[in-house]
Amino acid sequence: MTSPTAPDQSTLPKQTIVTLDLEGVLVPEIWIAVAERTGIPELRRTTRDEPDYDILMKGRLQLLEDHGLTMRLITEVISTLEPLAGAKDFLDALRDVTQVVLLSDTFEQFAAPLMRQLGMPAILCHQLAIDEDHIVGYALRMSDQKRHAVEAFRGLNYRVVAAGDSYNDAAMLAAADAGFWFGAPSAIAAEFPQFPSTDTYDELFTSITAALRSAPSGLRLR
Ligand SMILES: [Mg+2]
Repeated sequence: MTSPTAPDQSTLPKQTIVTLDLEGVLVPEIWIAVAERTGIPELRRTTRDEPDYDILMKGRLQLLEDHGLTMRLITEVISTLEPLAGAKDFLDALRDVTQVVLLSDTFEQFAAPLMRQLGMPAILCHQLAIDEDHIVGYALRMSDQKRHAVEAFRGLNYRVVAAGDSYNDAAMLAAADAGFWFGAPSAIAAEFPQFPSTDTYDELFTSITAALRSAPSGLRLR
Protein backbone atom coordinates (compact mmCIF):
# COMPACT_ATOMS: atom_id res chain seq x y z
CA MET A 1 0.00 0.00 0.00
CA THR A 2 1.47 3.30 -1.04
CA SER A 3 1.21 6.27 1.24
CA PRO A 4 -0.45 9.41 -0.18
CA THR A 5 1.89 12.05 -1.45
CA ALA A 6 1.27 15.72 -2.06
CA PRO A 7 0.54 15.96 -5.79
CA ASP A 8 1.97 18.71 -7.92
CA GLN A 9 -0.75 21.39 -8.17
CA SER A 10 -0.12 21.75 -11.89
CA THR A 11 -1.17 18.14 -12.48
CA LEU A 12 -4.61 18.70 -10.93
CA PRO A 13 -7.59 20.31 -12.63
CA LYS A 14 -8.00 23.94 -11.61
CA GLN A 15 -10.69 24.65 -9.07
CA THR A 16 -13.55 26.65 -10.54
CA ILE A 17 -15.96 29.48 -9.83
CA VAL A 18 -18.85 30.61 -11.99
CA THR A 19 -19.78 34.29 -11.86
CA LEU A 20 -23.23 35.28 -13.04
CA ASP A 21 -24.96 38.58 -13.57
CA LEU A 22 -28.28 38.82 -11.72
CA GLU A 23 -30.81 41.02 -13.54
CA GLY A 24 -31.73 39.71 -16.96
CA VAL A 25 -29.97 36.41 -16.24
CA LEU A 26 -31.73 35.08 -13.11
CA VAL A 27 -34.32 37.71 -12.22
CA PRO A 28 -36.22 40.38 -14.18
CA GLU A 29 -34.84 43.89 -14.56
CA ILE A 30 -35.83 45.45 -11.23
CA TRP A 31 -36.11 49.00 -12.54
CA ILE A 32 -38.37 47.92 -15.41
CA ALA A 33 -40.70 46.32 -12.84
CA VAL A 34 -40.68 49.57 -10.86
CA ALA A 35 -41.44 51.49 -14.07
CA GLU A 36 -44.41 49.26 -14.82
CA ARG A 37 -45.80 49.43 -11.30
CA THR A 38 -45.38 53.19 -11.01
CA GLY A 39 -46.25 54.10 -14.58
CA ILE A 40 -43.03 56.08 -15.06
CA PRO A 41 -41.77 54.91 -18.46
CA GLU A 42 -38.44 56.73 -18.13
CA LEU A 43 -37.48 54.25 -15.38
CA ARG A 44 -37.39 51.52 -18.03
CA ARG A 45 -33.91 52.57 -19.13
CA THR A 46 -31.31 49.98 -18.17
CA THR A 47 -27.64 49.30 -18.77
CA ARG A 48 -28.76 47.97 -22.14
CA ASP A 49 -29.78 51.51 -23.14
CA GLU A 50 -27.23 53.57 -21.21
CA PRO A 51 -23.77 52.05 -20.87
CA ASP A 52 -22.67 54.76 -18.39
CA TYR A 53 -23.98 53.42 -15.08
CA ASP A 54 -23.48 56.67 -13.18
CA ILE A 55 -25.56 58.63 -15.70
CA LEU A 56 -28.20 55.90 -15.57
CA MET A 57 -28.41 55.84 -11.74
CA LYS A 58 -28.43 59.60 -11.30
CA GLY A 59 -31.31 59.76 -13.76
CA ARG A 60 -33.21 57.07 -11.85
CA LEU A 61 -32.74 58.76 -8.48
CA GLN A 62 -33.87 62.08 -9.95
CA LEU A 63 -37.02 60.41 -11.28
CA LEU A 64 -37.73 58.87 -7.86
CA GLU A 65 -37.38 62.27 -6.27
CA ASP A 66 -39.51 64.01 -8.91
CA HIS A 67 -42.29 61.48 -8.38
CA GLY A 68 -41.91 61.25 -4.58
CA LEU A 69 -41.30 57.48 -4.65
CA THR A 70 -40.31 55.96 -1.31
CA MET A 71 -38.06 53.02 -0.50
CA ARG A 72 -41.11 51.29 0.98
CA LEU A 73 -42.97 51.41 -2.36
CA ILE A 74 -39.96 50.13 -4.24
CA THR A 75 -39.49 47.33 -1.71
CA GLU A 76 -43.16 46.39 -2.21
CA VAL A 77 -42.62 46.20 -5.96
CA ILE A 78 -39.50 44.08 -5.61
CA SER A 79 -41.23 41.71 -3.21
CA THR A 80 -43.74 40.93 -5.99
CA LEU A 81 -40.98 39.85 -8.37
CA GLU A 82 -39.99 36.26 -8.91
CA PRO A 83 -36.87 34.76 -10.47
CA LEU A 84 -37.17 34.13 -14.22
CA ALA A 85 -38.81 30.83 -15.15
CA GLY A 86 -36.24 28.06 -14.75
CA ALA A 87 -33.67 30.32 -13.08
CA LYS A 88 -33.76 28.64 -9.66
CA ASP A 89 -33.40 25.15 -11.17
CA PHE A 90 -30.52 26.35 -13.36
CA LEU A 91 -28.76 27.97 -10.42
CA ASP A 92 -29.30 24.95 -8.19
CA ALA A 93 -27.88 22.63 -10.87
CA LEU A 94 -24.85 24.87 -11.29
CA ARG A 95 -24.29 25.13 -7.53
CA ASP A 96 -24.35 21.35 -7.44
CA VAL A 97 -21.35 21.36 -9.80
CA THR A 98 -19.22 24.23 -8.54
CA GLN A 99 -19.20 27.48 -6.59
CA VAL A 100 -21.35 30.29 -7.99
CA VAL A 101 -21.00 33.97 -7.13
CA LEU A 102 -23.46 36.54 -8.43
CA LEU A 103 -21.80 39.77 -9.55
CA SER A 104 -24.42 42.48 -9.84
CA ASP A 105 -24.59 46.25 -10.14
CA THR A 106 -27.81 46.25 -8.14
CA PHE A 107 -28.00 47.10 -4.43
CA GLU A 108 -28.20 44.97 -1.30
CA GLN A 109 -31.57 46.49 -0.42
CA PHE A 110 -33.01 45.53 -3.82
CA ALA A 111 -31.42 42.10 -4.05
CA ALA A 112 -32.35 40.74 -0.60
CA PRO A 113 -35.94 39.55 -1.33
CA LEU A 114 -34.81 37.89 -4.55
CA MET A 115 -31.80 36.22 -2.94
CA ARG A 116 -34.13 34.51 -0.45
CA GLN A 117 -36.11 33.08 -3.38
CA LEU A 118 -32.88 31.86 -5.00
CA GLY A 119 -31.66 30.06 -1.88
CA MET A 120 -29.26 32.78 -0.72
CA PRO A 121 -26.42 32.41 -3.24
CA ALA A 122 -23.35 34.55 -2.66
CA ILE A 123 -23.78 37.98 -4.24
CA LEU A 124 -21.40 40.92 -4.54
CA CYS A 125 -23.19 44.20 -5.29
CA HIS A 126 -23.54 47.81 -4.07
CA GLN A 127 -25.64 49.68 -1.52
CA LEU A 128 -28.16 52.49 -1.47
CA ALA A 129 -28.15 55.41 0.92
CA ILE A 130 -31.60 55.62 2.53
CA ASP A 131 -32.80 58.57 4.58
CA GLU A 132 -36.29 58.51 6.09
CA ASP A 133 -37.65 56.10 3.50
CA HIS A 134 -36.16 57.99 0.59
CA ILE A 135 -33.31 56.81 -1.57
CA VAL A 136 -30.95 59.75 -1.36
CA GLY A 137 -27.97 58.26 -3.10
CA TYR A 138 -26.05 55.18 -4.02
CA ALA A 139 -22.55 54.02 -3.34
CA LEU A 140 -20.63 51.76 -5.64
CA ARG A 141 -18.40 49.63 -3.42
CA MET A 142 -15.89 50.12 -6.18
CA SER A 143 -16.07 50.89 -9.86
CA ASP A 144 -15.80 48.10 -12.39
CA GLN A 145 -16.36 45.59 -9.57
CA LYS A 146 -17.37 42.68 -11.81
CA ARG A 147 -14.05 42.75 -13.63
CA HIS A 148 -12.10 43.21 -10.38
CA ALA A 149 -13.92 40.28 -8.76
CA VAL A 150 -13.15 37.95 -11.66
CA GLU A 151 -9.51 39.06 -11.73
CA ALA A 152 -9.30 38.51 -7.96
CA PHE A 153 -10.75 35.00 -8.23
CA ARG A 154 -8.27 34.20 -10.99
CA GLY A 155 -5.54 35.63 -8.78
CA LEU A 156 -6.65 33.09 -6.17
CA ASN A 157 -5.88 30.41 -8.76
CA TYR A 158 -9.48 29.68 -9.76
CA ARG A 159 -10.66 29.05 -13.28
CA VAL A 160 -13.56 31.48 -13.78
CA VAL A 161 -16.46 31.08 -16.18
CA ALA A 162 -18.85 34.04 -16.44
CA ALA A 163 -22.24 34.80 -17.97
CA GLY A 164 -24.16 38.04 -18.35
CA ASP A 165 -26.64 39.84 -20.54
CA SER A 166 -25.57 43.45 -20.91
CA TYR A 167 -22.90 46.09 -21.42
CA ASN A 168 -21.94 46.11 -17.75
CA ASP A 169 -21.01 42.43 -18.08
CA ALA A 170 -18.61 42.75 -21.01
CA ALA A 171 -15.55 43.44 -18.84
CA MET A 172 -16.46 40.51 -16.55
CA LEU A 173 -16.75 38.17 -19.53
CA ALA A 174 -13.46 39.43 -20.96
CA ALA A 175 -11.65 38.96 -17.64
CA ALA A 176 -12.91 35.39 -17.19
CA ASP A 177 -11.34 32.24 -18.61
CA ALA A 178 -14.56 31.79 -20.59
CA GLY A 179 -17.55 34.08 -20.98
CA PHE A 180 -21.07 33.70 -22.35
CA TRP A 181 -23.95 35.97 -23.19
CA PHE A 182 -27.32 34.87 -21.87
CA GLY A 183 -30.45 36.53 -23.23
CA ALA A 184 -28.41 39.46 -24.47
CA PRO A 185 -29.90 41.80 -27.07
CA SER A 186 -28.55 40.81 -30.47
CA ALA A 187 -26.80 44.18 -30.88
CA ILE A 188 -24.76 43.63 -27.70
CA ALA A 189 -23.94 40.04 -28.58
CA ALA A 190 -22.88 41.22 -32.04
CA GLU A 191 -20.65 43.91 -30.57
CA PHE A 192 -18.76 41.27 -28.57
CA PRO A 193 -18.89 38.23 -30.86
CA GLN A 194 -16.01 36.57 -29.02
CA PHE A 195 -18.51 35.46 -26.35
CA PRO A 196 -20.96 32.74 -27.43
CA SER A 197 -24.58 33.71 -26.94
CA THR A 198 -27.57 31.65 -25.84
CA ASP A 199 -31.13 32.20 -24.69
CA THR A 200 -31.84 28.97 -22.82
CA TYR A 201 -30.71 27.77 -19.41
CA ASP A 202 -30.13 24.26 -20.76
CA GLU A 203 -27.67 25.55 -23.35
CA LEU A 204 -26.01 27.89 -20.89
CA PHE A 205 -25.60 25.08 -18.37
CA THR A 206 -24.05 22.86 -21.03
CA SER A 207 -21.70 25.63 -22.21
CA ILE A 208 -20.63 26.61 -18.70
CA THR A 209 -20.01 23.07 -17.50
CA ALA A 210 -18.02 22.33 -20.68
CA ALA A 211 -15.97 25.49 -20.12
CA LEU A 212 -15.34 24.49 -16.51
CA ARG A 213 -13.77 21.28 -17.72
CA SER A 214 -11.61 22.91 -20.40
CA ALA A 215 -8.25 23.56 -18.92
CA PRO A 216 -5.02 25.00 -20.24
CA SER A 217 -2.82 22.41 -21.89
CA GLY A 218 -0.62 20.52 -19.50
CA LEU A 219 -3.37 20.07 -16.93
CA ARG A 220 -4.68 16.60 -16.43
CA LEU A 221 -8.43 16.33 -16.08
CA ARG A 222 -10.38 13.70 -14.23
MG1 LIG B 1 -28.08 42.18 -16.40
